[in-house]
Amino acid sequence: MSIRKVFVGGNHKCNGSVTATSSRARLLAEAAPDLPSSDDVDIVIAPPAPYILTTKAVLDEHGSSAAVALQDVAIAREGGAHTGTVAADMAADLGAAWVIVGHSERRHVYGESDAHTRAKIAAVLDADLGLIYCVGETLEQREGGDAFGPVAAQMAALFDNPALATKPELWANIVVAYEPVWAIGTGKVASPEQAQEIHTQLRAAVAAATSPDIAAAVRIIYGGSVKLANCAELIAMPDIDGFLIGGASLKPEFVDIIKTAA
Ligand code: PGA
Repeated sequence: MSIRKVFVGGNHKCNGSVTATSSRARLLAEAAPDLPSSDDVDIVIAPPAPYILTTKAVLDEHGSSAAVALQDVAIAREGGAHTGTVAADMAADLGAAWVIVGHSERRHVYGESDAHTRAKIAAVLDADLGLIYCVGETLEQREGGDAFGPVAAQMAALFDNPALATKPELWANIVVAYEPVWAIGTGKVASPEQAQEIHTQLRAAVAAATSPDIAAAVRIIYGGSVKLANCAELIAMPDIDGFLIGGASLKPEFVDIIKTAA
């Protein structure tokens, strides 16, 4: 069991409508009396960007402590000539507290480069928003015998961030999400041992790049086919500090996962 405050994020991906996202937010808010307190768990939901405002309004109206995240962000904090995307400043203006960066669907389906990821990290940290930074290897990479190599390379984008070098306190705004690509949306979850192994390596990498204190405090969450049936054994591992959940975050099961995790 993690010694850090548990973090559970729901990544709705490109699913929803005004009605569906609002009712999901209402369901979550109404479950509050049965959920662990906000001292014990951070709950964050990431609806598609057009629904951030309505989602936030529903959560606020019901006094929910759950926060809202943007699923991806423009490479320039203030926006400008960046057709088809949303700037970090806009996310803050809409009331989002977190931004997901580096999701495998951005890296592998949309072909976004490390340079894009680096710029997005900078934009999010600069806007003083929380960063959920996703890393993970493909099946081919894992079967090639070096699952951590690609993950370490993706972490370099975070370690190289100039703001983090001068303001290490910004690490408090960062959650690292280990999401093996082969486990995302496939129903093939990493075993608790496989996830724990990478989480340990990730924490060691953060320690080497920063300090033992920062590494001990940073939350490293797991994502990839998390559901109620497998979340208890994953959260039992000492370096798994919560989850980033896709498919199951669209279902009432999300609330039960939060209860189990925290
Ligand atoms: P999944 O997605 O839970 O549907 O596997 C996780 C994610 O992509 O964050």
